[in-house]
Amino acid sequence: MPYDLTGKRIWVAGHRGMVGSAVVRRLASERCEVITAGRDVVDLVDQAAVRAWMAANRPDAIVLAAAKVGGIKANNDFPVDFLYQNLMIEANILQAAHEADVERVLFLGSSCIYPKLTPQPIPEEALLTGPLEPTNERYAIAKIAGIKLTQAYRTQYGRDWISAMPTNLYGPGDNYDLNSSHVLPALLRKFHEAKVSGSKEVVVWGTGSPRREFLHCDDLADALVFLLKAYSGYKHINVGSGIEVTIRELAETIAEVVGYDAKLTFDTTKPDGTPRKLMDSRLLQAMGWRGGRQLKDGISNAYADFLSRKVL
Ligand code: GDP
Repeated sequence: MPYDLTGKRIWVAGHRGMVGSAVVRRLASERCEVITAGRDVVDLVDQAAVRAWMAANRPDAIVLAAAKVGGIKANNDFPVDFLYQNLMIEANILQAAHEADVERVLFLGSSCIYPKLTPQPIPEEALLTGPLEPTNERYAIAKIAGIKLTQAYRTQYGRDWISAMPTNLYGPGDNYDLNSSHVLPALLRKFHEAKVSGSKEVVVWGTGSPRREFLHCDDLADALVFLLKAYSGYKHINVGSGIEVTIRELAETIAEVVGYDAKLTFDTTKPDGTPRKLMDSRLLQAMGWRGGRQLKDGISNAYADFLSRKVL
């Protein structure tokens, strides 16, 4: 340590997703070679295909951002996909990486794999200390297995591989489908639609009082590159912004960014979910990572991307 990225071949697995594409953007300012492989090139669920691709392309490092992801409805409707595909993707990539002597792997977990009821802010030690949220249990079990497998290669084979645990993310390439999206892109879309149609109200689910932490995906990518260069250790590292707001405050900030002052109507027939979800990111901060744009700046950036993609 530190791990010098100069001249390294870095495979960003999952480069079409919100996180993977942010990592590709961030790595463009490093003197490394970024390699990617679309689904048409290698099916990550297919062990033989992953092994063959890895042997032929021999990356020096991997950012493992590939995963089957989705909201509560998708998790409920397709439990096999979330458990099987995620287990296969991570097991195939990690074993093939071991066989190809890959120097560094950065595996990604998610704040939603911590126990349903857990101390706030959530420390790294909270993992596996209690029952999971039932609605995303399959995804969580697969991601926890990925963290444990990454640690196991470190323990059994001395691989310098690490894991990071991002908080709630948003930014370019987010999911704006109101049935499956998270709150930030959902409200961005709702305010935009209200502005376009001239509607006087925006419906916000729940009471507006739950608190959530939000991190822009480009800030996450910056933290991940920082960890790839500077962190070597068994423990997974939380990556949060420390920016925590109520859902009502989030809605007000989004209204400012979109430039449309609609009345907020709280639909309390919809669930609030957990009252608070905040990561304890002191380990990352103690290593020296200070990052992160303000929430309003980050949402402005996401809104510009939303408009440019003509999501609607
Ligand atoms: P969570 O962080 O896993 O609870 O997932 P979400 O991002 O979906 O929801 C966070 C909070 O935002 C919950 O209290 C939701 O009820 C609330 N919320 C308010 N309006 C919306 C909306 O339009 N879509 C979503 N997904 N959540 C909303």
